Amino acid sequence: MTVPEPGSIAVARSAVEGLRGVLRDSGRSVEFQSADIRVSVAPGRVNLLGGHTDYNEGFVLPVAVDRFVSCALYPGDTGILEFHSLDLGDSFQLDLASLDELRDDPDRFDELAGGCRAMWRRYVAGVILEMDEAGIPVVSGIAAITGNIPIGSGLSSSAALEVSVYLACGKGAGATVEAALLCQRAENRWAGVPCGIMDQYTSLLAEAGKAIFLDCRHLTCRHVPLPEGCAITVINSGIQRELADGEYRRRRLEIESALGILRKAVGPIAALRDLPAGDLAEVEDLLPQPLLKRVEHVVGAIERVEKGAVSLTLGERERFGELMVECHRSLAERYEVSIEELDLIVESAISVDGVYGARLTGAGFGGCCVVFHREGCREELESAVAGAYRARSWKEPVFHHLSAAPGARVLNAEDMSGSGITEL
Ligand code: ADP
Ligand code: MG
Repeated sequence: MTVPEPGSIAVARSAVEGLRGVLRDSGRSVEFQSADIRVSVAPGRVNLLGGHTDYNEGFVLPVAVDRFVSCALYPGDTGILEFHSLDLGDSFQLDLASLDELRDDPDRFDELAGGCRAMWRRYVAGVILEMDEAGIPVVSGIAAITGNIPIGSGLSSSAALEVSVYLACGKGAGATVEAALLCQRAENRWAGVPCGIMDQYTSLLAEAGKAIFLDCRHLTCRHVPLPEGCAITVINSGIQRELADGEYRRRRLEIESALGILRKAVGPIAALRDLPAGDLAEVEDLLPQPLLKRVEHVVGAIERVEKGAVSLTLGERERFGELMVECHRSLAERYEVSIEELDLIVESAISVDGVYGARLTGAGFGGCCVVFHREGCREELESAVAGAYRARSWKEPVFHHLSAAPGARVLNAEDMSGSGITEL
């Protein structure tokens, strides 16, 4: 059993304090011991290498980051599960006896999840509905949820929310690939977000100090230790990903068109994963632009993740950094999903001594860059990137200094007593 990350204990503690406050405010008993409650913590994630490789059934290389969502549940036998979002100041109830009706009646679900602050309800209720459908017994009671993952910044607070609810509310629920698929289904079906499996998989199955070399076709992984003395900084460009949804859809259609042409010419290909980089020259006359450059990006990016996993294993941090920069340039030039701000962050970051590499992470058109660097050059990195922004009179970007955290877990009484949670 891994030791819980200290940052996760602090977030769990806030959830427990919040739970106590909710119980107090509603006139219910606040006299509970840590053994009476179920507290889960789930990390966010950032992808070091890849970039539109997941839906091409290729590889990605994410790490879980030391920012968490926690769900603290005080079980009761009421048959009602009541959720309180401490961060959004919103709450709602689910009657566990009528989940079938909620599942079968989209209007009832919309009513539950209506209102401007209510997106979070879709993720939470979605997980409960999926657990119920999968035959996982759901515990009733009162739950408080809080987190310190910046929301909507590309660090996957949504997956952490789903995973924390899954672990706290599912009887016997554990960190498995099936759990990741269940949480992904909750996000796809009930929140309407067509995310891949990477976020939930990473949040559940990561190991401290390691990246996950994840095969998006077979859903198998290898944990790859990050070399000693390395650090990760995520820099938010401050640009909302407004174009991202439409352009993301367009890229996916382009890939489908390219696959259609390739299948006619070279036979059955399930996904671009099946086209080796060495065969690109043979198909280049078949594909019109921009399809050819889209395919070149994906095929190169998949191969780069494989090379990157090897470099990390060998401790070749400079080589790994070069692969990140190549990935960024390919995303910019061939996949055309970068913007000026992201390019500037990457170029100014890699000019700093001690920075191994940087690239845009996520779908592009805004959001964040991830920087892989030597520990101890944070100030130089911040000053180079902020300086480049200032020179253009842009609003300063936001920096998150992160380390590779272990996957989600349910904290036991021992974890909590060590942290002082029992004394709250
Ligand atoms: P990201 O996953 O990149 O942070 P998303 O837009 O996918 O961004 O997910 C953000 C959504 O997840 C929020 O709108 C909210 O509904 C939900 N969420 C994330 N963290 C929390 C939290 N601490 N409390 C309640 N809801 C949260
Ligand atoms: Mg998300």
